[in-house]
Amino acid sequence: MVKHCVEGCTGHCCMFYSVFVTDNDVKRMMKETKLHPKRFLELHSPSAERQGFYPKVCVSSEWKVLGLKHNKYELSCYFFMKNAGMCGVNKSKPLVCRTYPFSTDKEEQLMHMNGTLCPVKWMPENKKQTLKLIKQLRKEKDEYSKKVLKWNQNYYWHDFDTFLDYILFDKNPNGYKTKKSLRHKLRNGLRI
Ligand code: SF4
Ligand code: SF4
Repeated sequence: MVKHCVEGCTGHCCMFYSVFVTDNDVKRMMKETKLHPKRFLELHSPSAERQGFYPKVCVSSEWKVLGLKHNKYELSCYFFMKNAGMCGVNKSKPLVCRTYPFSTDKEEQLMHMNGTLCPVKWMPENKKQTLKLIKQLRKEKDEYSKKVLKWNQNYYWHDFDTFLDYILFDKNPNGYKTKKSLRHKLRNGLRI
């Protein structure tokens, strides 16, 4: 998802999509950027997730979907470097970004998805690697969905901080250690 995917494209997909993530995506991004997750995450309206792939999460008793912040002024993903036409977190960008605009057909062969913003039907150089990443994305999404289901059943009235503690740091909301946990992470080098 950078400008050299296809000649002439300067990152339509980084500007016009809401980008949803799993807990593992967030952990990788935190490791690379050293940012506190609230700097780059937000809860999107569930209607933004039209594919029904990512789970809905109930936070403070409202249904949402976890995703990257969308920069309202730049009209792009929080990490998109508009002038360079590039992603600012190339190493740890979410799996959905690493595999876009590809999926698999019935025979598990790689295909360029229909109806995407991508202007040209192109294929990645390393198809095997993209297929592997698609598999990893599905697996990590399923694991994340299980965690979210447990949250929705047991902790849905808790706030966003508590949700992040639960999915990222395995904190049990009943023990309510949110502030302590975040302080601990800050002491260990996360910028807020
Ligand atoms: S994380 Fe990177 S690749 Fe994904 S939408 Fe944002 S800028 Fe684009
Ligand atoms: S829209 Fe397609 S060509 Fe353009 S940056 Fe995204 S994946 Fe690459």
